Amino acid sequence: MLVTEILTILRNIPMKHVLAMILGFLLLVCISILGSKDFTEEDKISELRKPLKLSSLSEDYQIEIPYIEKEVVIKRNDSLFTILDNLGVSKENIIKLINSKKSDLLSKIEVGDKIKAYVNEYGELEKLIYVDNIKSGIRAERVDSSYVISRYESKIEKVKVFKHVVIKDSMYMSGLRENVPDSVLMDLAYINGWDIDFTHDIRPGDTFSIVYEEVIIDGEKVIDGDILISEFNNRNKKFIAVRYDLDEQNSEYFNLEGENVKKAFLRSPVKLSYISSKYNLKRRHPVLHTIRAHRGVDYAANKGSPIRATGDGTVLFAEYNAGCGNEIKIKHSEDYVTRYCHLDRFSARTKVGRKIKQGQTIGYVGSTGLATGPHLHYEFHVNGKHTDPLKVKFPNASPIRSSELMAYKEKSSDLINELQKYQYLIDQREFYGG
Ligand SMILES: [Zn+2]
Repeated sequence: MLVTEILTILRNIPMKHVLAMILGFLLLVCISILGSKDFTEEDKISELRKPLKLSSLSEDYQIEIPYIEKEVVIKRNDSLFTILDNLGVSKENIIKLINSKKSDLLSKIEVGDKIKAYVNEYGELEKLIYVDNIKSGIRAERVDSSYVISRYESKIEKVKVFKHVVIKDSMYMSGLRENVPDSVLMDLAYINGWDIDFTHDIRPGDTFSIVYEEVIIDGEKVIDGDILISEFNNRNKKFIAVRYDLDEQNSEYFNLEGENVKKAFLRSPVKLSYISSKYNLKRRHPVLHTIRAHRGVDYAANKGSPIRATGDGTVLFAEYNAGCGNEIKIKHSEDYVTRYCHLDRFSARTKVGRKIKQGQTIGYVGSTGLATGPHLHYEFHVNGKHTDPLKVKFPNASPIRSSELMAYKEKSSDLINELQKYQYLIDQREFYGG
């Protein structure tokens, strides 16, 4: 009776369920056979022959002691010993390192260089990298009980990156949205800052295209490098700036004619300011209430805002002077003089006869002399004559040397072609919806 009942039940189970049951059963059998598999005699002997060391134990039991990467910049009075000791490397390990061949490579450590050490919690040093410059360094790697020390060279690659941005609000915000790095946007503003006022001149729909470099060291992106070329379209005016190496250390940007994009003068002597009074030969004076020519431009700004020298030059005058209050005069090349009034105070380096660099802070906004509130009164004199600083055409900084003009033209036309090629590819992709 019972047998027939079981058979009936089995017959009612669908075929696929039966197959699954059989497979499951076989799997269980396999697991139990493997699990209970005895070591052969040979296995046992080789196991016994293994010397019982901590290292072999940790190997067998797969104990992983993590090495932590620690980095330190070498300071005065540091020695390799004190640095590694501070990083938690055991004294025995440091001695092992010092006793390794070629450890003299590590004997001259210099302030400002970097040491990277990979140390575990037992004070074991796995690897040490001494970076003495971006391109090369010294590596020490543990092999058995000592270290293999050698000099290495990094593989440096420069990769060109192209970006095209349509400005919606500000150049900076629009650029960030298109993943243009912050430092590149700062450079872009600097390069074009002589022609474009980024606070007042930018309109939605303005565009810029740039090719810049990324520096890759040993496969890892290290820095966003320099802009090689930028094309800025501001209110239907196009500005092109091409980077050109003047020598090993100095590079500048030039337009397609080979003129320096930098001007000999900055447009404004106070960064965060607004123009409260323009150059006007028939102005009513706000304090004296008489008609007196206003032979300069007033920049209203918070008291204490830094004032920049608008061009390279030499300090002619720096002291209190009646209505002008604290006054600075700077003599620039040829016959240009700039004058700054109502300063709260002078910067420490502003002394008569001293050389001043363009952009250098010479003093701070105040309201000394005849002034209603904190502002800078700024004048621009050409050949001893007052000139409207907002209208005068500034001379360019030094153009490309005529001996290098050919080489420059070749380079700039290559970069222009590159820019256009990238732009074409982007247009194609947009057109085909890629
Ligand atoms: Zn004024």
